[in-house]
Amino acid sequence: MEGTSIGKIAKLIKTYHNFIITSHVNLDGDALGSELALYFILKQLQKKAKIVNQDQVPYIYQFLPGVDEIICSDKLDKNFKLEIERDTVLVVLDSSNLERIGNIPLEIEKIRIIVNIDHHPSNTNFGHVNYIDVNSSSVGEIIFQLSKELNCELTEQLVIPMFTAIVTDTGSFRYANTTAETFHTAFLLTKSGANPHLITNYIYNNNELSALKLLGEALLKLQIDKNSRFAWSVVTREMMGRTCAREEETEGIVDKILSIRKVQVSVLFKETKEGTTKISFRSKGEFNVDLFSRIFGGGGHPNAAGCQLEGDINTIVKKVLTELKKALNNGNYR
Ligand code: 5GP
Ligand code: MN
Repeated sequence: MEGTSIGKIAKLIKTYHNFIITSHVNLDGDALGSELALYFILKQLQKKAKIVNQDQVPYIYQFLPGVDEIICSDKLDKNFKLEIERDTVLVVLDSSNLERIGNIPLEIEKIRIIVNIDHHPSNTNFGHVNYIDVNSSSVGEIIFQLSKELNCELTEQLVIPMFTAIVTDTGSFRYANTTAETFHTAFLLTKSGANPHLITNYIYNNNELSALKLLGEALLKLQIDKNSRFAWSVVTREMMGRTCAREEETEGIVDKILSIRKVQVSVLFKETKEGTTKISFRSKGEFNVDLFSRIFGGGGHPNAAGCQLEGDINTIVKKVLTELKKALNNGNYR
């Protein structure tokens, strides 16, 4: 269905009373920050709201207000299903397609109104109502605009998750999605009580030793092409086991690889528990990893994207790097 305006989303929120909020698998700061900010907006408006996700909240985000109220499929009985009323609205945040919400205890087909709020260019407009702003740094920034539209009070419960969403999705205000508008929003959030030093310490200075051990292992396996245009590494199950690292602790490795001078694209191949390979792409400059990762059924943003592939990891590494070399040689995906 066609897109809508932030004003119409605000109107819809005023009209309905029961909301279920969700986001994508592998929760990140924007997914959680925008979910929690919207949750507290709805609470301010005396609405009924629940947040439900497939995955558990990563340790570094457990400081966020309201995380204890999030329902997580991983911890529920297999047969449990959330109750859906006639007028229940499902709000999906930061998810470019409906499959990316993973397994949540909901009979989706019974839901009459799905609201899709996102900033990914590859969004499939899967909602009954779709608000996609590809110029927004983060869904957190969109939720901030929504809070203004609804005349909400900017309490700490709203501004801490919103600031978290923005700071993480902009790579601490370094990515190309960082605009004057982003700083303006961050300024207003800081004025209303979001403390950048405290928030970023929770997120970036809160690692377990295992995360750094895993980073060390991945850097030992780091490889670079002969022209230094791209660099890559792998994280195998064996490396995860040896370092006792948690799934979420691979976060940041691919960004470290991109920090090498001259490297335009970094790639991390990670063997998952389920036996697939999760691939993360990052780029600086013009190479569009969102478009590139779509070759393999993935997506994301121009400078940060991902996909999952089935099969042997070494075969996958060869296949993806062959395509990447071809794309860079031909000047494609710019
Ligand atoms: P990450 O590499 O941190 O997992 O993901 C980077 C970006 O790519 C995020 O915006 C994320 O939503 C997107 N992304 C990662 N994996 C996939 C995927 O399998 N499909 C799609 N459509 N997007 C993905
Ligand atoms: Mn996002």
